[in-house]
Amino acid sequence: MSALERRASENLQSATRAVRAGLEADSQHGAVMPPIVLSSTFAFEGFEKPRTYDYSRSGNPTRDQFGAALADLEGGAGAVVTSTGLSAIALVLHLLEPGQRVLAPHDGYGGTFRLLRGYAAKGWIDVRFVDYRDEVALARELRDEETRPRLVWIETPSNPLLRITDIAAVAAAAHRVGALVAVDNTFLSPALQTPLELGADLVVHSTTKYLNGHSDVVGGAVIAGETDLLRDLAWWGNAAGLVGSPFDSYLALRGLRTLHARIRAHLENAEAIAEFLAHHPAVARVHYPGLAEHPGHELARRQQRGFGGMVSFELAGFEGDEKRGVAAFLDGLCCFTLAESLGGVESLVAHPATMTHASMTPEARAVAGLGDGLLRLSVGVEDVRDLVRDLNLGLARAQASASSRSRTAAPHDRHEEVTAAVGVA
Ligand code: PLP
Repeated sequence: MSALERRASENLQSATRAVRAGLEADSQHGAVMPPIVLSSTFAFEGFEKPRTYDYSRSGNPTRDQFGAALADLEGGAGAVVTSTGLSAIALVLHLLEPGQRVLAPHDGYGGTFRLLRGYAAKGWIDVRFVDYRDEVALARELRDEETRPRLVWIETPSNPLLRITDIAAVAAAAHRVGALVAVDNTFLSPALQTPLELGADLVVHSTTKYLNGHSDVVGGAVIAGETDLLRDLAWWGNAAGLVGSPFDSYLALRGLRTLHARIRAHLENAEAIAEFLAHHPAVARVHYPGLAEHPGHELARRQQRGFGGMVSFELAGFEGDEKRGVAAFLDGLCCFTLAESLGGVESLVAHPATMTHASMTPEARAVAGLGDGLLRLSVGVEDVRDLVRDLNLGLARAQASASSRSRTAAPHDRHEEVTAAVGVA
């Protein structure tokens, strides 16, 4: 029995499976790490005798290794690895017939919003955005015969407000009316949440984020719970050419091996930062499911295995002039890079209204609660003392700018305490 076969027969933990995905599979040289196969084409054994692989759009060993690892971690029947997270979302939409309805959250990732609206404008699908916190509205959408969706889209925690949706409850309600359920699991990864176990039919990832984890690949994946869905997805992945490159798959598989170790460090840092921000007088609100006062805290405890590495917050004292506070905060940071994206080992800060969610209309942003004073942190794995010090200085700059428009915030005892606890002078 090979090591590969022995591993398959053991009930190994997720972290072990991530580290060991595809290891010792090379029968030619015994390479421990699976070699990369970049070839776009594969020789036939003879006339009318193709091998397993014939052309890399249709199938590629390196991409398949990454897909198999993702399907294993998510508990799915298989995965289609795509060129980007958005092409993974587009691939799922290929499962719909013309005009069929998609129900989607009103506060999800801006790119998902733009794609759904764009396809709807062409008449390819019908889309309805709903506030998933409003159980009555959600139930109405799923009950009404005329407006029933064929696909229910879930993004939890949502980007950027980190609102939590009850996957099991929404999936059960969607299945009662025959809808498929897809969950965008980008913000947590299978290390912290496995939606298929909670009743979803499909899981979508931007592998650009935590799965690759090093901000040097743009990629995506769809993991299907059942083989029928997998077959259709694989067919469309090939037919529409949405699949990922072997090189990106190789890098992302390498990144995936350290997923659980990285996630532990992200979590530890994010929890300390959320706590620090929650007690800072220059911060009006913190959005982090790990905080007891977060409306989704209890649900997140139940359906997640950790609260994640993303933290959003709103600056206090700039009503009507939020961008001024944001500019003062951002100008001078040294350990948070102002950039799109998330989930890499390095800390990033984004201003959703002008960056990640600029593709939403100002009205849609207002309805979703994405104000101009909102900042989103992708908390990296640096030493948390440096991260907190950087944020502390940024908030002091924002406070100075606020007081220069004659609004001062009083220092706060608890803030001093938390600052001291994480070792900031
Ligand atoms: N889903 C979520 C939750 C995201 O945050 C993003 C990108 O930020 C995407 C999907 C799209 O992924 P990509 O940029 O890899 O196309």
